[in-house]
Amino acid sequence: MRIDVVTIFPDHLAPLDDAIVGRARRAGLIDLYVHDLRAWATGVHQAVDDSPYGGGPGMVMTPTVWGEALDAVREAVPDDPGVLLVPTPAGAPMTQRRVAGWATATRLTIACGRYEGIDGRVTVDAARHGPVEEFSLGDYVLAGGEVAALAAVEAVSRLVPGVLGNPASAELDSFSDGLLEAPAYTRPETWRDLDVPPVLRSGDHGAVARWRRDRSLERTAAVRPDLLDRLGAAAFDRRDREV
Ligand code: SAM
Repeated sequence: MRIDVVTIFPDHLAPLDDAIVGRARRAGLIDLYVHDLRAWATGVHQAVDDSPYGGGPGMVMTPTVWGEALDAVREAVPDDPGVLLVPTPAGAPMTQRRVAGWATATRLTIACGRYEGIDGRVTVDAARHGPVEEFSLGDYVLAGGEVAALAAVEAVSRLVPGVLGNPASAELDSFSDGLLEAPAYTRPETWRDLDVPPVLRSGDHGAVARWRRDRSLERTAAVRPDLLDRLGAAAFDRRDREV
């Protein structure tokens, strides 16, 4: 998979050299390029923003610079525009389901906004060339799209075949079955007078699976009841309904 990130703060993407994503890049599983938007800015000040039409505070990122940048990045692989991802608090939330869809693309480009965001015509124009998806990290406002880009690249990378040592870990993660994962434990068996739940040491795989499912249901009901509603009755068996 090829990923291009366009930003005015390329250094903010430095963590993509580390850990899982860094290893995936070095293994040739992910081809990642970070571009400085200002490379497409003209004029002595290399401005990338201007005041908003209609008035109001702040500055808006100009379509002329973004248009040139996205055209150039897209043309790097002329027959594959891939999916353009645009982080914005005004987008639909980034969910594991959406991430799983992005992970099947051969190419992703992420356009990181700053200031009051990117001129609204940029996504309209980009959609003439390929799919565009706006996404939000959550109901809060960040200063720029770089943190959202880091989150998207890391979440997608975990699902690219070969990136995780054990692909089963992604299959068992929270959200894969629509629920939050049960708590996890490791040695020592007792720590600060707190014991690991005995069933996890029983060797009874059926009982362990049941225990995990129960805790997963409890946890989801407590903090994300909306996820249970979304699953619908057919996702639960008789035993689930007793929890
Ligand atoms: N004026 C915009 C609004 O209210 O929707 C907020 C702009 S924000 C200060 C600047 C940039 O940060 C956005 O263009 C986007 O790239 C990024 N950003 C901020 N919050 C975000 C969020 N919750 N999810 C994804 N990106 C976000």
